[in-house]
Amino acid sequence: MPLNRAGAAAWLAAWAQKAEANVDYLTDLDRQIGDADHGANLKRGLAAVTALDPDGFAGPADYLKKTGLTLVSTVGGASGLLYGTFFLRVAAAWPSQEGDAAGLGAAFKAGLDDIQKRGKAVLGDKTMVDALVPAFAAYDAATAAGQGIGPALAQAAAACAAGRDATVPLIARKGRASYLGERSAGHLDPGAASATYLVEAAASTLP
Ligand SMILES: [Mg+2]
Repeated sequence: MPLNRAGAAAWLAAWAQKAEANVDYLTDLDRQIGDADHGANLKRGLAAVTALDPDGFAGPADYLKKTGLTLVSTVGGASGLLYGTFFLRVAAAWPSQEGDAAGLGAAFKAGLDDIQKRGKAVLGDKTMVDALVPAFAAYDAATAAGQGIGPALAQAAAACAAGRDATVPLIARKGRASYLGERSAGHLDPGAASATYLVEAAASTLP
């Protein structure tokens, strides 16, 4: 899909579809180290996002901005704020030119920077950051090597999944899971799981 309203809508619909298909899995992950609401929260928020009509917006930036605001107001909790923040920043930096792989990477990076600023999470804290940092680093490495959006996003999705899986042995240092201390080790972080759906959805729709 091109980087227009329809492309952005396809990305969000694919993310919603993955989250909905895995709502019980996300809930189970959050039950192990949190409060068992991540699946339901994300499903509710993405239902509100996919109910938006992309044709009702002037362009992809306006549509993605509304997506961010909708996520903040409907998902709730830390993940609603962080995903909402991500889309607000991505919207502001969304490339205006089709096929602008570096521009898309810059938009992702702006979104990730704001997630880290708001969540104050760094690599190794056992959060979505552990999936998103390697994902967008892989994206940037691919585009710096001259690759286009398709292969760059494919590499980002693979790196994201690897980062997600690497959260299992970590001891949580942020969020509710951190209350568990060492008992948080041995569980996959639910935010890293839903963030991987986000990047996988981008890889399957934006190229
Ligand atoms: Mg929760």
